[in-house]
Amino acid sequence: MRARRAEIMLKSEKDIEQMRIAASTTSEIVDELVAAVAPGISTLDLDRLAEEACRRRGVTPAFKGLYGFPSCLCVAVNDVVVHGIPSAGVVLREGDIIGLDFGVVYRGWYGDHARTVAVGAVDEESSRLVAVTKQALQAGFEACQPGNRLRDVGSAVQRCAEGAGYSVVRDFVGHGIGRRLHEEPSVYNYFDREQLMRLRAGMVLCLEPMVNIGTADVRLLADEWTAVTADGRRSAHFEHTIAITPAGPEVLSISGAGVRAA
Ligand code: MG
Repeated sequence: MRARRAEIMLKSEKDIEQMRIAASTTSEIVDELVAAVAPGISTLDLDRLAEEACRRRGVTPAFKGLYGFPSCLCVAVNDVVVHGIPSAGVVLREGDIIGLDFGVVYRGWYGDHARTVAVGAVDEESSRLVAVTKQALQAGFEACQPGNRLRDVGSAVQRCAEGAGYSVVRDFVGHGIGRRLHEEPSVYNYFDREQLMRLRAGMVLCLEPMVNIGTADVRLLADEWTAVTADGRRSAHFEHTIAITPAGPEVLSISGAGVRAA
């Protein structure tokens, strides 16, 4: 049977202008969170900061209530891969790494962005993991040329991460974004022969590689949200909202074009 063709919602230049504001606002709020990351702060404190930052800008946190997720922010400390629920009981310590995955809705348009940062001084392996994951996202971004296929993007991400001796998580993938947080297509972080769709101007995609030091395998904790590495080793995650334009890809989740805080 022939696979059903995924419906892609192409965005006009005007739509992309609005999405740029949404995604840039997301990045600016993540800047605030990163500035607050320090030993002694809890992940619940960070969630409250994120909610307050949304309120000051008149935007809506995108994740809270989506599929039943209870918080504004997804946190991922050390061996957590994604979707950790902020908690007063998770207090950051020197040497930790934390992934901050966040999204907002602005005038009905979604932005989505994630960064992994160090808490104080971290061991060499952790800082290399974070650097490589960021590079893997950059490699994927560079492959987002109109006319390339989706699998070229996954291949670029995978080559970068595995070339550094790390593994790419298979259980979570990137996605289209627009009037909904998750739209078609899925964007794999590894080469998949069947990801043949060609990128074209007007697509807006979230690339979000999750890279592990050890095994790519993950398991879900009892809260049914928190995904951790199966071997307990560390994982890093970066994400950008990227518009495909006729001239090439543009990162929308860059600070500087967001809604001003009141
Ligand atoms: Mg995402």
